[in-house]
Amino acid sequence: METNKLLLRQIKRNLSSEVIENTPGLKEFINSVNESYSNFNHDIEMNERAFQIAEMEYEEINQKLNSEKETIERGIKRLSNMIRAITPEFDLARIDNQDDLLFITGMLEEQVAVRKEIERKLQIAVDNEIEASNVKSEFLATISHEIRSPLNVITSLSHILLSEHHLPEQEENFEILKIASNTLMLLINDVLDFSKIESGKLELKKYSFDLHSLLKDIKKSSKPLAQEKEIFFKLDYQENLPRVVYSDSLRIRQILVNLISNALKFTEQGGVELKVDFLSEIKDSYLLQFEVIDSGIGIPESKLKEIFDEFYQVSKKHSRNGTGLGLSISKHLLNLLDSEIMVESTEGKGSKFFFKIYIEKGEPKDIVEEHTESSDNLNGLSILIVDDMAFNRIVIEKMLNKWNLKLDFAENGVEAIEKIKAKKYNLVLMDIHMPIMNGIEATKAIRLFDNETNIIALTASSDEKTKEDVFYSGMNNLITKPIIPNELLRVIKNYSEQKKANL
Ligand code: ADP
Repeated sequence: METNKLLLRQIKRNLSSEVIENTPGLKEFINSVNESYSNFNHDIEMNERAFQIAEMEYEEINQKLNSEKETIERGIKRLSNMIRAITPEFDLARIDNQDDLLFITGMLEEQVAVRKEIERKLQIAVDNEIEASNVKSEFLATISHEIRSPLNVITSLSHILLSEHHLPEQEENFEILKIASNTLMLLINDVLDFSKIESGKLELKKYSFDLHSLLKDIKKSSKPLAQEKEIFFKLDYQENLPRVVYSDSLRIRQILVNLISNALKFTEQGGVELKVDFLSEIKDSYLLQFEVIDSGIGIPESKLKEIFDEFYQVSKKHSRNGTGLGLSISKHLLNLLDSEIMVESTEGKGSKFFFKIYIEKGEPKDIVEEHTESSDNLNGLSILIVDDMAFNRIVIEKMLNKWNLKLDFAENGVEAIEKIKAKKYNLVLMDIHMPIMNGIEATKAIRLFDNETNIIALTASSDEKTKEDVFYSGMNNLITKPIIPNELLRVIKNYSEQKKANL
C-alpha cells in the first residue's frame, strides 16, 4: 500500500529511519495510520460520487416534474376551454387565474349534474311525445274505424243501387255516389294505414297469387281514369315475367295503384306507363323491377326528398283530392317488403317512380281464384243476421235478397241466443261489436248448448287479436267488412251445404 503523502511528509520531518527501525511497534503504528488515511480518502471519493449521482437524479426528477407541470397546465387549459364551451356565461376569470384542479373538477361535476338534469327532462319530453303520438294514432284509428263502418254501408248500397233496376236518370247520381264513397273509403283507409304504420301495427299477409292477373286488374281499373283525362295508360311486361309469386298482393296493388293514381293526377298530356321487368332469379325468389312513368308536371329537384314525408304536397293546386299520405305509406310498405322506392323527375317533362324487389316464388296450387259464385242450391236456406246497426242489416239483406234465402234478424247477442234456442239455422252471421251482449260473448254462450250451427263473424278489423278472439269463442270463420257479395256467397255456400241435409 502506498504511504499517504501527508503522513510521509510528517515522518520525513520528525523521524529518522533508525528511529523507525529501532522503535518496536512504530512501523506498525505508521501502517495503521496510513490505512486510516487511505480509508478516509476512499470515503471522500465515495461521498463525492454519491453526491454526483444525487445531483444527476435531482436533475432528472426536476425535468420530469417540469414536464408533468406543463402537462397539468395544458390539461387545465383544456378543461377551462371545455367549461367555457359548455357554459359561455360562466365567469372565466375564476378559472383562468387558477390552476386548482380540485376547483375545476368541482366545476365539471356541477356541469355534469346540470347536463344530467337536462337529459332527464329531455327524456321525459320524448316519453311524453311518444305517449302523445300513440294517443293520436289510437284516436285516428278509432275515429277512422267509426267512420268506416257507416261508410261501408254507403259504399255497399251504392253498388247495390247500381246493380238493381233503376230509372235511367238516376244512373248518374248513383255513379257519383259510388265514386264519392269509394274515394272517401280510400282516404279513410290511408289514414288508418298511416296510424297503423305509426304504431308499428301494420302486418303483411303473404300468399301465392298470379302476378299477371294482378297487373291486368290494375290496368283495368286505371284505364277509365286515363280515358277520362284523354291521356294513355299502358301496361308493359314481357311474357317471361314470373306468373305465380308469393307476397302480399294487396299491398303490392296498393303501392302500384298509389303511384299510378298520382301519375294520372299530375299528367295532362301524353300518359302513364306501368312497366314491369324480370331482372334475375335466385334460389327461392325473383328480382323484379316495377316502374311507373308519366309525362306530367314533374317535381322540382329540391322537393324530391320531401314528397315522401307525411302530409307533404308540392302544391295545393293539384292535390285537392289527396292527403299527402300516399307516397309516405307506399315507402313504408316497400320497406316492410325489403325494398326501397326511388324517383327521377324533370320539371315540366314528367316523373318516374320505381323500385326493385325480391319476390318469393309461389305455389300454383295455392292460388285462390276469384270467380263469380253461382247461387244454385241456396234456395230456402235459413240464415240469422245479428247486427245492432239497422243499416248494416239492410245492406246484408239487400245482398242476400236475390238468392232466395230465409232471413231472420237479431240486434244483439241476447236476442241471437233466444232465436237460436227457438229455431235451427243453417248459418248465423254475427257482428262482433254490439251493445247488451257482443258477438264473442254470444257465441261462447251458444256453444254451451249448440255446437252444430255454423257461426261466421262479421268484423271491420282483421287484426290477429280479433281473429284469435273469434276462433277462440267457437266461431267457424270470419268475413271482413266491407262485405264483398261474392265472398259472402262463397262462405254461405261452403257452410250451408253440409248442414242442409240435416235440417
Ligand atoms: P297526395 O297525392 O295525396 O297529395 P302523395 O304522398 O301521394 O300525396 O304525394 C305527395 C306529393 O308528391 C303530391 O302532392 C305531389 O305534389 C307530388 N307527386 C307525387 N307523385 C307525383 C307525380 N307523379 N308527378 C308530380 N308530382 C307528384
